[in-house]
Amino acid sequence: MPVDPVPSIALNFEDARLLVEQQAAQISTPATESVDLLVAAGRVLSEPVFADRNLPPFPRSTRDGYAVHSADLASLPASVDVIGEIRAGERIENIPKEMLAGQAISIMTGAPVPQGADAVVMVEYTKPHGPRVEIKRGVAIGENIVLAGAEAKQGGLLVDRGVCLDPATIALAASVGKSSLQVYKRPRVAVLSTGDEIVSIDATPSPTQIRNSNSYSLAVQIRNAGGEPVLLPIAPDEPRKLRALIEEGLKSDLLLMTGGVSMGRYDLVEQVLEELKAEFFFTGAKIQPGRPVVFGKCGAGALVRESTGTYVFGLPGNPVSTMVTFELFARPILEALAGLSPRKLRFVYANLKSEIRVKPGLKRFLPAILSGDFEASQVELVPWQGSGDVAATARANCYIVIPSDRDRIPAGEFVAILSR
Ligand code: AMP
Ligand code: MG
Repeated sequence: MPVDPVPSIALNFEDARLLVEQQAAQISTPATESVDLLVAAGRVLSEPVFADRNLPPFPRSTRDGYAVHSADLASLPASVDVIGEIRAGERIENIPKEMLAGQAISIMTGAPVPQGADAVVMVEYTKPHGPRVEIKRGVAIGENIVLAGAEAKQGGLLVDRGVCLDPATIALAASVGKSSLQVYKRPRVAVLSTGDEIVSIDATPSPTQIRNSNSYSLAVQIRNAGGEPVLLPIAPDEPRKLRALIEEGLKSDLLLMTGGVSMGRYDLVEQVLEELKAEFFFTGAKIQPGRPVVFGKCGAGALVRESTGTYVFGLPGNPVSTMVTFELFARPILEALAGLSPRKLRFVYANLKSEIRVKPGLKRFLPAILSGDFEASQVELVPWQGSGDVAATARANCYIVIPSDRDRIPAGEFVAILSR
């Protein structure tokens, strides 16, 4: 059935991104489940983690050496009585109750500093002489001691819900004895590749057919962003079959489509979404690659439950466009569906190795190689054949971000980078 074309609303990159972030902020958190701490990395925490006791639980020596009164070291070298030894894990009853002026206690890294001592001298600056020790360097009050509760107070919040668990947050959870954690369930993300020329990777393509690579790159990106990809069959450029598959995809928490959003006669995604009464937030962004990207929300026509609808992205079919537009626009929505607290798009900067010339007007995200040694990071574009060139993109390890008002960036300038 013929349908009217959807008027194109191409936004500036920043406006489009802002719109996505605004929608992401309205998404409510998903259901939760419990996971073992050992497999919790990469999951999104759904319960706050609190300190079950002070961290550290006792004043902790950060050095091997001697617990001292700093005032005893006013004139150097000093000589003081050694009245005992405290090892890490020393039983509380074995720790001297007091340490008088002129006394010191041998102490190990991680051991509790005894009452009376106000600093620890590193063993490197000491020399034992029988029951005494000679100290060659003074210390400030508090030196080499972390006070009880200085890192966190008992009952204090350590990690909030909405945080993606990484080695440091897992270590914190372990340090307060959480062997399992409540996390958000992963959202299901339907992936629908479209195009008459696209065939399954198991099929032998005819000379003019193209294997479906987009569903596979998207599956990786979806997993990295906390989702569970659900690959749908490839949709032909035929409205009825496309509509049936879109309706299927709308049953998931998010629908990502690739292809069929350009201006060609057989680019039908927008029209079919329009038939399904989709609300469009934008139908284009002034970027390269990925200009025809579509973002909307759709209630799946007759299929909708009382839900408020499913977010839908029509990502351009060129493989690099698909990857870039996922990162720029689909990721914040998926992260919100996964329960992650919103975060801004952040770029790092690196020194440009060779000059870039482009036509102004679009914000560009071009495949590039970040290299260099230690603090001297350098970046340069990889030669490519445009947004279909997944081979060049595979040789790259990041994208250089080129502002839309620049036509030339000289070598040596610091340029923004989107990492992959
Ligand atoms: P389209 O966005 O449908 O105009 O497609 C743009 C280009 O991307 C065409 O060269 C398609 O063959 C290619 N393409 C579209 N979908 C896929 C896919 N799933 N895997 C690999 N290439 C694709
Ligand atoms: Mg197509």
